[in-house]
Amino acid sequence: MEYEAVIGLEVHAELLTRSKMFCSCPVVDATQSRPNIAVCPVCSGMPGVLPVINEQAVGYAIKVALALDCQIATTSIFARKNYFYPDLPKGYQISQYEYPLAEYGRLRIRTGQGDRDIHIRRVHMEEDTGKLTHVPANSNGAAYSLVDLNRAGVSLLEIVSDPDMHTLEEVRAYAQGLRAILRYLGVNSGDMEKGVIRFEANVSVRPVGCETLGTRVEIKNLNSFRALERASAYQIQKQIEIIEAGGSIRQETLGWDEAKGETYTQRSKEEAHDYRYFPEPDLPPLVVEQAWIDQIAASLPELPEPKARRFQQQYGLTPADAALLAEDKSVANFFEAVLAAAPLVSARTVSNWIVGEIFGWINQTGHSFETLPLSPENLAELLNLSGRDINLNTAKTVLAEMLSSGQRAPEIIRARGLGQISDTDTVATLVGQVLKAHPDQLANYVAGKETLSNWFFGQVMRSAQGQANPQVLRAELERQLNAEKAK
Ligand code: ADP
Ligand code: MG
Ligand code: ZN
Repeated sequence: MEYEAVIGLEVHAELLTRSKMFCSCPVVDATQSRPNIAVCPVCSGMPGVLPVINEQAVGYAIKVALALDCQIATTSIFARKNYFYPDLPKGYQISQYEYPLAEYGRLRIRTGQGDRDIHIRRVHMEEDTGKLTHVPANSNGAAYSLVDLNRAGVSLLEIVSDPDMHTLEEVRAYAQGLRAILRYLGVNSGDMEKGVIRFEANVSVRPVGCETLGTRVEIKNLNSFRALERASAYQIQKQIEIIEAGGSIRQETLGWDEAKGETYTQRSKEEAHDYRYFPEPDLPPLVVEQAWIDQIAASLPELPEPKARRFQQQYGLTPADAALLAEDKSVANFFEAVLAAAPLVSARTVSNWIVGEIFGWINQTGHSFETLPLSPENLAELLNLSGRDINLNTAKTVLAEMLSSGQRAPEIIRARGLGQISDTDTVATLVGQVLKAHPDQLANYVAGKETLSNWFFGQVMRSAQGQANPQVLRAELERQLNAEKAK
Protein backbone atom coordinates (compact mmCIF):
# COMPACT_ATOMS: atom_id res chain seq x y z
CA MET A 1 0.00 0.00 0.00
CA GLU A 2 1.06 3.60 -0.61
CA TYR A 3 1.21 5.92 2.40
CA GLU A 4 1.13 9.65 2.81
CA ALA A 5 2.85 11.44 5.67
CA VAL A 6 0.96 14.15 7.56
CA ILE A 7 2.98 16.64 9.55
CA GLY A 8 2.06 19.64 11.68
CA LEU A 9 4.68 21.81 13.37
CA GLU A 10 4.67 23.65 16.66
CA VAL A 11 7.42 26.24 16.70
CA HIS A 12 8.64 28.07 19.79
CA ALA A 13 10.51 31.30 19.17
CA GLU A 14 12.00 33.52 21.85
CA LEU A 15 11.29 37.20 21.30
CA LEU A 16 14.20 39.64 21.29
CA THR A 17 12.67 41.96 23.84
CA ARG A 18 14.91 43.86 26.28
CA SER A 19 13.15 42.49 29.36
CA LYS A 20 11.28 39.29 30.14
CA MET A 21 7.59 38.64 29.46
CA PHE A 22 6.18 39.48 32.90
CA CYS A 23 9.00 41.13 34.87
CA SER A 24 11.76 43.69 34.29
CA CYS A 25 14.67 41.20 34.31
CA PRO A 26 16.89 41.68 31.27
CA VAL A 27 16.97 39.00 28.58
CA VAL A 28 20.55 37.68 28.53
CA ASP A 29 22.30 35.36 26.10
CA ALA A 30 21.65 31.92 27.56
CA THR A 31 24.90 30.49 26.21
CA GLN A 32 27.19 33.34 27.36
CA SER A 33 25.95 34.51 30.75
CA ARG A 34 26.72 33.22 34.19
CA PRO A 35 23.76 31.22 35.56
CA ASN A 36 21.02 32.95 37.56
CA ILE A 37 22.15 36.54 37.06
CA ALA A 38 18.86 37.70 35.51
CA VAL A 39 16.34 36.52 38.08
CA CYS A 40 13.82 38.30 40.33
CA PRO A 41 10.95 37.32 42.63
CA VAL A 42 8.49 37.28 39.71
CA CYS A 43 10.36 34.95 37.36
CA SER A 44 11.60 32.74 40.20
CA GLY A 45 8.02 32.15 41.36
CA MET A 46 8.04 33.79 44.80
CA PRO A 47 4.63 34.02 46.43
CA GLY A 48 2.76 37.31 46.52
CA VAL A 49 4.29 38.87 43.40
CA LEU A 50 2.38 40.00 40.32
CA PRO A 51 3.20 39.64 36.63
CA VAL A 52 3.01 42.65 34.28
CA ILE A 53 2.61 42.15 30.52
CA ASN A 54 5.55 43.30 28.39
CA GLU A 55 4.23 45.71 25.76
CA GLN A 56 7.16 45.21 23.42
CA ALA A 57 6.52 41.45 23.42
CA VAL A 58 2.89 42.03 22.46
CA GLY A 59 3.96 44.36 19.66
CA TYR A 60 6.42 41.77 18.35
CA ALA A 61 3.83 39.00 18.54
CA ILE A 62 1.37 41.14 16.57
CA LYS A 63 4.07 41.79 13.96
CA VAL A 64 4.65 38.07 13.48
CA ALA A 65 0.93 37.30 13.43
CA LEU A 66 0.36 39.96 10.76
CA ALA A 67 3.30 38.70 8.69
CA LEU A 68 1.65 35.26 8.81
CA ASP A 69 -1.66 36.72 7.63
CA CYS A 70 -3.43 35.81 10.87
CA GLN A 71 -6.61 37.28 12.27
CA ILE A 72 -5.70 39.11 15.44
CA ALA A 73 -7.99 39.00 18.46
CA THR A 74 -8.35 42.45 20.02
CA THR A 75 -9.04 40.59 23.28
CA SER A 76 -7.00 37.53 24.22
CA ILE A 77 -6.63 35.83 27.55
CA PHE A 78 -3.60 34.48 29.41
CA ALA A 79 -4.06 31.09 31.02
CA ARG A 80 -2.17 29.00 33.53
CA LYS A 81 -0.83 25.70 32.26
CA ASN A 82 -0.17 23.77 35.45
CA TYR A 83 2.59 21.23 35.72
CA PHE A 84 5.61 20.60 37.87
CA TYR A 85 9.17 20.61 36.62
CA PRO A 86 12.35 21.90 38.30
CA ASP A 87 12.88 24.49 35.56
CA LEU A 88 9.42 25.98 36.24
CA PRO A 89 9.50 27.43 39.75
CA LYS A 90 5.92 28.74 39.76
CA GLY A 91 4.48 25.28 39.08
CA TYR A 92 2.65 26.68 36.08
CA GLN A 93 3.51 28.39 32.83
CA ILE A 94 1.58 31.50 31.80
CA SER A 95 0.41 30.81 28.25
CA GLN A 96 -2.66 31.40 26.14
CA TYR A 97 -5.15 28.62 25.59
CA GLU A 98 -8.78 29.12 24.58
CA TYR A 99 -8.33 32.73 23.46
CA PRO A 100 -4.97 33.12 21.72
CA LEU A 101 -3.68 36.39 20.29
CA ALA A 102 -4.03 35.26 16.70
CA GLU A 103 -5.49 32.48 14.54
CA TYR A 104 -6.06 31.34 10.95
CA GLY A 105 -2.91 32.45 9.17
CA ARG A 106 -0.77 31.02 6.42
CA LEU A 107 2.79 30.85 5.23
CA ARG A 108 3.57 30.48 1.53
CA ILE A 109 6.29 27.96 0.80
CA ARG A 110 8.08 27.11 -2.41
CA THR A 111 9.15 23.56 -3.24
CA GLY A 112 10.01 21.60 -6.37
CA GLN A 113 6.26 21.04 -6.70
CA GLY A 114 5.56 24.78 -6.83
CA ASP A 115 4.11 27.27 -4.34
CA ARG A 116 1.75 26.23 -1.54
CA ASP A 117 0.16 27.84 1.48
CA ILE A 118 0.64 26.07 4.80
CA HIS A 119 -2.12 27.04 7.19
CA ILE A 120 -1.34 28.40 10.61
CA ARG A 121 -3.74 27.39 13.32
CA ARG A 122 -2.72 29.85 16.00
CA VAL A 123 -0.01 32.18 17.29
CA HIS A 124 0.05 32.72 21.03
CA MET A 125 2.25 34.26 23.69
CA GLU A 126 3.77 32.50 26.66
CA GLU A 127 6.92 32.45 28.79
CA ASP A 128 9.99 30.26 28.49
CA THR A 129 11.18 27.89 31.20
CA GLY A 130 14.59 27.81 32.88
CA LYS A 131 17.37 25.51 31.80
CA LEU A 132 18.46 22.28 33.46
CA THR A 133 21.93 20.79 33.21
CA HIS A 134 22.08 17.13 34.17
CA VAL A 135 25.44 16.11 35.58
CA PRO A 136 25.90 12.34 35.47
CA ALA A 137 27.18 10.30 38.39
CA ASN A 138 30.93 9.79 38.57
CA SER A 139 33.39 8.27 41.01
CA ASN A 140 33.11 11.38 43.23
CA GLY A 141 29.43 11.14 43.83
CA ALA A 142 25.85 10.78 42.69
CA ALA A 143 24.23 12.40 39.70
CA TYR A 144 22.68 15.82 40.17
CA SER A 145 21.04 18.57 38.13
CA LEU A 146 21.69 22.30 37.98
CA VAL A 147 18.98 24.90 37.46
CA ASP A 148 19.59 28.18 35.61
CA LEU A 149 16.64 30.58 35.67
CA ASN A 150 18.09 33.22 33.30
CA ARG A 151 15.73 31.96 30.60
CA ALA A 152 12.73 31.50 32.90
CA GLY A 153 10.06 34.03 31.96
CA VAL A 154 11.60 35.10 28.64
CA SER A 155 8.89 36.01 26.09
CA LEU A 156 8.09 33.07 23.89
CA LEU A 157 5.90 32.89 20.84
CA GLU A 158 4.27 29.61 19.87
CA ILE A 159 3.29 29.23 16.24
CA VAL A 160 1.17 26.16 15.48
CA SER A 161 0.52 24.96 11.93
CA ASP A 162 -2.34 22.81 10.70
CA PRO A 163 -1.43 19.22 9.81
CA ASP A 164 -0.76 20.49 6.29
CA MET A 165 2.65 19.19 5.31
CA HIS A 166 3.24 15.90 3.52
CA THR A 167 6.92 15.81 2.57
CA LEU A 168 10.22 16.57 4.25
CA GLU A 169 10.83 19.22 1.62
CA GLU A 170 7.66 21.02 2.71
CA VAL A 171 8.63 20.72 6.36
CA ARG A 172 12.03 22.24 5.69
CA ALA A 173 10.62 25.01 3.50
CA TYR A 174 8.07 25.91 6.18
CA ALA A 175 10.60 25.87 9.01
CA GLN A 176 13.14 27.91 7.05
CA GLY A 177 10.47 30.30 5.82
CA LEU A 178 9.29 30.91 9.35
CA ARG A 179 12.83 31.53 10.60
CA ALA A 180 13.46 33.95 7.73
CA ILE A 181 10.32 35.93 8.60
CA LEU A 182 11.22 36.11 12.30
CA ARG A 183 14.64 37.47 11.38
CA TYR A 184 13.25 39.96 8.86
CA LEU A 185 10.96 41.33 11.52
CA GLY A 186 13.89 41.66 13.91
CA VAL A 187 12.05 39.75 16.64
CA ASN A 188 14.39 36.72 16.77
CA SER A 189 18.07 36.26 15.92
CA GLY A 190 17.49 32.89 14.26
CA ASP A 191 20.53 31.46 16.11
CA MET A 192 19.39 27.87 16.21
CA GLU A 193 22.49 26.69 18.11
CA LYS A 194 21.43 28.96 20.94
CA GLY A 195 18.01 27.37 21.09
CA VAL A 196 16.09 30.58 20.33
CA ILE A 197 13.93 28.64 17.86
CA ARG A 198 12.76 25.11 18.71
CA PHE A 199 10.61 22.82 16.62
CA GLU A 200 8.16 20.11 17.60
CA ALA A 201 7.01 17.82 14.84
CA ASN A 202 3.65 16.05 14.98
CA VAL A 203 3.84 13.13 12.60
CA SER A 204 1.30 10.60 11.37
CA VAL A 205 0.82 8.53 8.24
CA ARG A 206 -2.26 7.34 6.37
CA PRO A 207 -3.01 5.40 3.20
CA VAL A 208 -2.95 7.65 0.14
CA GLY A 209 -6.49 8.82 -0.59
CA CYS A 210 -7.68 8.38 3.01
CA GLU A 211 -9.38 11.52 4.35
CA THR A 212 -9.12 10.98 8.11
CA LEU A 213 -5.95 11.63 10.04
CA GLY A 214 -3.90 8.81 11.48
CA THR A 215 -2.76 8.68 15.11
CA ARG A 216 0.19 11.02 15.59
CA VAL A 217 3.26 11.18 17.72
CA GLU A 218 4.89 14.40 18.83
CA ILE A 219 8.69 14.78 18.68
CA LYS A 220 9.88 17.47 21.10
CA ASN A 221 12.74 19.94 21.13
CA LEU A 222 14.22 19.63 17.68
CA ASN A 223 16.69 22.48 17.44
CA SER A 224 18.06 22.26 13.93
CA PHE A 225 16.55 21.84 10.48
CA ARG A 226 18.54 18.66 10.13
CA ALA A 227 17.19 17.18 13.36
CA LEU A 228 13.67 18.20 12.33
CA GLU A 229 14.02 16.44 8.99
CA ARG A 230 15.78 13.34 10.27
CA ALA A 231 13.39 12.82 13.17
CA SER A 232 10.36 13.25 10.91
CA ALA A 233 11.79 10.86 8.31
CA TYR A 234 12.53 8.33 11.01
CA GLN A 235 8.96 8.42 12.36
CA ILE A 236 7.33 8.27 8.91
CA GLN A 237 9.35 5.16 8.08
CA LYS A 238 8.73 3.56 11.45
CA GLN A 239 4.98 4.17 11.44
CA ILE A 240 4.62 2.68 7.97
CA GLU A 241 6.52 -0.41 9.13
CA ILE A 242 4.31 -0.79 12.21
CA ILE A 243 1.11 -0.47 10.19
CA GLU A 244 2.35 -2.83 7.46
CA ALA A 245 3.11 -5.39 10.17
CA GLY A 246 -0.50 -5.16 11.38
CA GLY A 247 0.25 -3.02 14.44
CA SER A 248 -1.19 0.35 15.44
CA ILE A 249 0.39 3.65 16.40
CA ARG A 250 0.35 4.78 20.02
CA GLN A 251 -0.08 8.51 20.61
CA GLU A 252 2.97 9.58 22.56
CA THR A 253 5.55 12.28 23.14
CA LEU A 254 9.02 11.48 21.91
CA GLY A 255 12.54 12.80 22.21
CA TRP A 256 15.16 12.69 19.45
CA ASP A 257 18.57 11.09 19.93
CA GLU A 258 20.79 12.87 17.44
CA ALA A 259 23.73 10.49 17.87
CA LYS A 260 21.73 7.30 17.45
CA GLY A 261 19.42 8.80 14.85
CA GLU A 262 16.36 7.44 16.70
CA THR A 263 13.34 8.75 18.55
CA TYR A 264 12.68 7.52 22.10
CA THR A 265 9.57 7.57 24.27
CA GLN A 266 9.41 10.41 26.80
CA ARG A 267 5.88 9.91 28.03
CA SER A 268 2.52 8.78 26.81
CA LYS A 269 0.74 11.77 25.28
CA GLU A 270 -0.61 14.23 27.82
CA GLU A 271 -4.08 15.69 27.24
CA ALA A 272 -5.10 19.29 27.71
CA HIS A 273 -7.06 18.44 30.87
CA ASP A 274 -3.87 17.14 32.49
CA TYR A 275 -2.72 20.75 32.66
CA ARG A 276 -5.84 22.10 34.37
CA TYR A 277 -5.77 25.23 32.25
CA PHE A 278 -7.62 28.18 33.74
CA PRO A 279 -7.53 31.94 33.06
CA GLU A 280 -4.58 33.58 34.81
CA PRO A 281 -6.17 35.39 37.77
CA ASP A 282 -3.25 37.79 38.16
CA LEU A 283 -3.60 39.28 34.66
CA PRO A 284 -6.49 41.11 33.04
CA PRO A 285 -7.56 40.11 29.53
CA LEU A 286 -5.11 41.49 26.98
CA VAL A 287 -6.89 44.16 24.94
CA VAL A 288 -5.07 45.58 21.93
CA GLU A 289 -6.46 48.56 20.06
CA GLN A 290 -7.14 48.18 16.36
CA ALA A 291 -5.26 51.44 15.77
CA TRP A 292 -2.08 49.86 17.19
CA ILE A 293 -2.53 46.77 15.02
CA ASP A 294 -3.00 49.00 11.95
CA GLN A 295 0.10 50.98 12.84
CA ILE A 296 2.18 47.81 13.13
CA ALA A 297 0.72 46.49 9.87
CA ALA A 298 1.79 49.69 8.10
CA SER A 299 5.35 49.29 9.40
CA LEU A 300 5.88 45.69 8.19
CA PRO A 301 8.88 45.35 5.87
CA GLU A 302 8.74 43.55 2.53
CA LEU A 303 8.94 39.87 3.53
CA PRO A 304 11.22 37.21 2.02
CA GLU A 305 8.66 35.43 -0.14
CA PRO A 306 7.19 38.50 -1.87
CA LYS A 307 10.69 39.92 -2.15
CA ALA A 308 11.89 36.75 -3.92
CA ARG A 309 9.00 37.02 -6.36
CA ARG A 310 9.84 40.66 -7.02
CA PHE A 311 13.54 39.83 -7.61
CA GLN A 312 12.49 37.20 -10.11
CA GLN A 313 10.17 39.54 -12.03
CA GLN A 314 12.05 42.79 -11.77
CA TYR A 315 15.57 41.45 -12.32
CA GLY A 316 14.96 38.24 -14.28
CA LEU A 317 16.67 36.02 -11.70
CA THR A 318 16.02 32.29 -11.51
CA PRO A 319 13.57 31.28 -8.74
CA ALA A 320 16.40 29.58 -6.85
CA ASP A 321 18.72 32.60 -6.94
CA ALA A 322 15.90 35.00 -6.11
CA ALA A 323 14.98 32.91 -3.07
CA LEU A 324 18.60 32.66 -1.92
CA LEU A 325 19.12 36.42 -2.14
CA ALA A 326 15.79 37.28 -0.51
CA GLU A 327 15.99 34.85 2.40
CA ASP A 328 18.25 37.09 4.46
CA LYS A 329 17.55 40.80 4.71
CA SER A 330 21.20 41.82 4.81
CA VAL A 331 21.91 39.82 1.62
CA ALA A 332 18.88 41.27 -0.16
CA ASN A 333 19.83 44.82 0.81
CA PHE A 334 23.43 44.23 -0.27
CA PHE A 335 22.28 42.90 -3.65
CA GLU A 336 20.10 45.91 -4.35
CA ALA A 337 22.76 48.33 -3.13
CA VAL A 338 25.26 46.83 -5.62
CA LEU A 339 22.69 47.20 -8.41
CA ALA A 340 22.17 50.83 -7.50
CA ALA A 341 25.91 51.51 -7.47
CA ALA A 342 26.60 49.64 -10.73
CA PRO A 343 23.64 50.39 -12.99
CA LEU A 344 25.48 49.16 -16.08
CA VAL A 345 26.16 45.70 -14.64
CA SER A 346 23.32 43.22 -15.16
CA ALA A 347 21.35 41.95 -12.15
CA ARG A 348 22.17 38.38 -13.11
CA THR A 349 25.87 39.14 -13.05
CA VAL A 350 25.57 40.72 -9.61
CA SER A 351 23.50 37.77 -8.40
CA ASN A 352 26.08 35.29 -9.71
CA TRP A 353 28.89 37.09 -7.91
CA ILE A 354 27.01 37.08 -4.62
CA VAL A 355 25.63 33.55 -4.80
CA GLY A 356 28.83 32.09 -6.25
CA GLU A 357 31.89 33.99 -5.07
CA ILE A 358 30.69 35.65 -1.88
CA PHE A 359 28.63 32.76 -0.50
CA GLY A 360 31.54 30.47 -1.40
CA TRP A 361 33.93 32.65 0.56
CA ILE A 362 31.52 32.78 3.53
CA ASN A 363 31.21 28.99 3.56
CA GLN A 364 34.96 28.57 3.38
CA THR A 365 35.88 31.10 6.04
CA GLY A 366 32.96 30.68 8.42
CA HIS A 367 32.16 34.40 8.23
CA SER A 368 28.57 35.58 8.18
CA PHE A 369 27.10 38.05 5.75
CA GLU A 370 26.66 40.61 8.52
CA THR A 371 30.41 40.70 9.11
CA LEU A 372 31.38 40.69 5.43
CA PRO A 373 34.41 42.98 5.06
CA LEU A 374 33.12 44.32 1.75
CA SER A 375 30.73 47.16 1.02
CA PRO A 376 28.22 46.99 -1.84
CA GLU A 377 29.91 50.09 -3.34
CA ASN A 378 33.28 48.35 -3.42
CA LEU A 379 31.86 45.25 -5.09
CA ALA A 380 30.12 47.52 -7.60
CA GLU A 381 33.44 49.20 -8.33
CA LEU A 382 35.04 45.83 -9.03
CA LEU A 383 32.18 44.72 -11.28
CA ASN A 384 32.43 47.97 -13.24
CA LEU A 385 36.09 47.21 -13.94
CA SER A 386 35.49 43.52 -14.69
CA GLY A 387 35.31 42.81 -18.42
CA ARG A 388 36.78 46.21 -19.19
CA ASP A 389 40.06 46.72 -17.40
CA ILE A 390 40.41 43.18 -16.09
CA ASN A 391 39.02 39.87 -17.29
CA LEU A 392 36.71 37.58 -15.31
CA ASN A 393 39.39 35.38 -13.79
CA THR A 394 41.45 38.34 -12.70
CA ALA A 395 38.32 39.90 -11.19
CA LYS A 396 37.82 36.79 -9.06
CA THR A 397 41.41 36.98 -7.85
CA VAL A 398 40.94 40.65 -7.04
CA LEU A 399 37.75 39.92 -5.09
CA ALA A 400 39.53 37.30 -2.99
CA GLU A 401 42.16 39.87 -2.15
CA MET A 402 39.57 42.55 -1.40
CA LEU A 403 37.94 40.19 1.09
CA SER A 404 41.17 39.28 2.82
CA SER A 405 42.86 42.71 2.81
CA GLY A 406 39.90 45.10 2.81
CA GLN A 407 41.54 47.05 -0.06
CA ARG A 408 39.56 48.44 -2.97
CA ALA A 409 39.72 46.94 -6.46
CA PRO A 410 41.64 49.75 -8.25
CA GLU A 411 44.35 49.73 -5.55
CA ILE A 412 44.85 45.99 -5.91
CA ILE A 413 44.85 46.11 -9.71
CA ARG A 414 47.40 48.91 -9.73
CA ALA A 415 49.63 47.45 -7.03
CA ARG A 416 49.78 44.04 -8.68
CA GLY A 417 49.85 45.24 -12.27
CA LEU A 418 46.71 43.30 -13.12
CA GLY A 419 45.26 45.84 -15.54
CA GLN A 420 44.04 44.27 -18.74
CA ILE A 421 45.97 44.99 -21.93
CA SER A 422 43.41 46.58 -24.27
CA ASP A 423 45.79 48.73 -26.21
CA THR A 424 45.62 47.49 -29.84
CA ASP A 425 49.24 48.26 -30.67
CA THR A 426 50.51 46.28 -27.69
CA VAL A 427 48.26 43.35 -28.48
CA ALA A 428 49.30 43.50 -32.17
CA THR A 429 52.96 43.28 -31.17
CA LEU A 430 52.27 40.26 -28.97
CA VAL A 431 50.34 38.51 -31.76
CA GLY A 432 53.11 39.25 -34.26
CA GLN A 433 55.74 37.80 -31.93
CA VAL A 434 53.78 34.60 -31.37
CA LEU A 435 53.14 34.03 -35.10
CA LYS A 436 56.82 34.56 -35.82
CA ALA A 437 57.85 32.13 -33.10
CA HIS A 438 55.70 29.30 -34.53
CA PRO A 439 56.33 29.13 -38.31
CA ASP A 440 55.26 25.45 -38.62
CA GLN A 441 51.88 26.01 -37.00
CA LEU A 442 51.41 29.12 -39.07
CA ALA A 443 52.11 27.16 -42.26
CA ASN A 444 49.60 24.50 -41.21
CA TYR A 445 47.04 27.17 -40.51
CA VAL A 446 47.52 28.80 -43.88
CA ALA A 447 47.25 25.31 -45.45
CA GLY A 448 43.71 25.02 -43.96
CA LYS A 449 44.00 23.86 -40.35
CA GLU A 450 41.68 26.60 -39.07
CA THR A 451 41.38 25.26 -35.53
CA LEU A 452 44.95 26.40 -34.91
CA SER A 453 43.57 29.88 -34.49
CA ASN A 454 42.40 28.92 -30.99
CA TRP A 455 45.79 27.53 -30.22
CA PHE A 456 47.42 30.82 -31.26
CA PHE A 457 44.91 32.68 -29.12
CA GLY A 458 46.02 30.62 -26.11
CA GLN A 459 49.69 31.25 -26.88
CA VAL A 460 49.25 35.01 -27.08
CA MET A 461 47.16 35.07 -23.90
CA ARG A 462 49.89 33.13 -22.20
CA SER A 463 52.59 35.54 -23.32
CA ALA A 464 50.36 38.36 -21.96
CA GLN A 465 50.12 36.53 -18.62
CA GLY A 466 46.39 36.22 -19.05
CA GLN A 467 45.90 39.97 -19.10
CA ALA A 468 45.11 40.60 -22.74
CA ASN A 469 41.61 41.87 -23.45
CA PRO A 470 40.04 38.82 -25.13
CA GLN A 471 37.97 40.80 -27.64
CA VAL A 472 40.90 42.92 -28.77
CA LEU A 473 43.13 39.87 -28.95
CA ARG A 474 40.60 37.88 -30.98
CA ALA A 475 40.16 40.69 -33.50
CA GLU A 476 43.87 41.37 -33.88
CA LEU A 477 44.71 37.68 -34.25
CA GLU A 478 42.08 37.29 -36.94
CA ARG A 479 43.40 40.32 -38.80
CA GLN A 480 47.00 39.06 -38.83
CA LEU A 481 46.04 35.48 -39.73
CA ASN A 482 43.94 36.72 -42.66
CA ALA A 483 46.88 38.80 -43.79
CA GLU A 484 49.07 35.65 -43.71
CA LYS A 485 46.49 33.73 -45.78
CA ALA A 486 46.35 36.52 -48.33
CA LYS A 487 50.10 36.50 -48.85
P1 ADP B 1 -1.50 19.65 21.30
O1 ADP B 1 -0.16 19.17 20.83
O2 ADP B 1 -1.33 20.75 22.25
O3 ADP B 1 -2.38 18.57 21.73
P2 ADP B 1 -3.07 20.07 18.79
O4 ADP B 1 -3.90 18.90 18.88
O5 ADP B 1 -3.76 21.35 18.47
O6 ADP B 1 -2.23 20.40 20.09
O7 ADP B 1 -2.02 19.83 17.67
C1 ADP B 1 -0.74 20.24 17.76
C2 ADP B 1 -0.06 20.03 16.42
O8 ADP B 1 -0.26 18.72 15.94
C3 ADP B 1 -0.55 20.95 15.33
O9 ADP B 1 0.57 21.45 14.63
C4 ADP B 1 -1.36 20.04 14.43
O10 ADP B 1 -1.29 20.48 13.09
C5 ADP B 1 -0.66 18.72 14.60
N1 ADP B 1 -1.51 17.55 14.37
C6 ADP B 1 -2.71 17.29 14.94
N2 ADP B 1 -3.16 16.09 14.53
C7 ADP B 1 -2.21 15.56 13.71
C8 ADP B 1 -2.09 14.32 12.99
N3 ADP B 1 -3.00 13.39 13.04
N4 ADP B 1 -0.97 14.15 12.28
C9 ADP B 1 -0.01 15.08 12.23
N5 ADP B 1 -0.08 16.24 12.88
C10 ADP B 1 -1.16 16.49 13.61
MG1 MG C 1 1.80 19.88 21.24
ZN1 ZN D 1 12.44 38.44 36.66
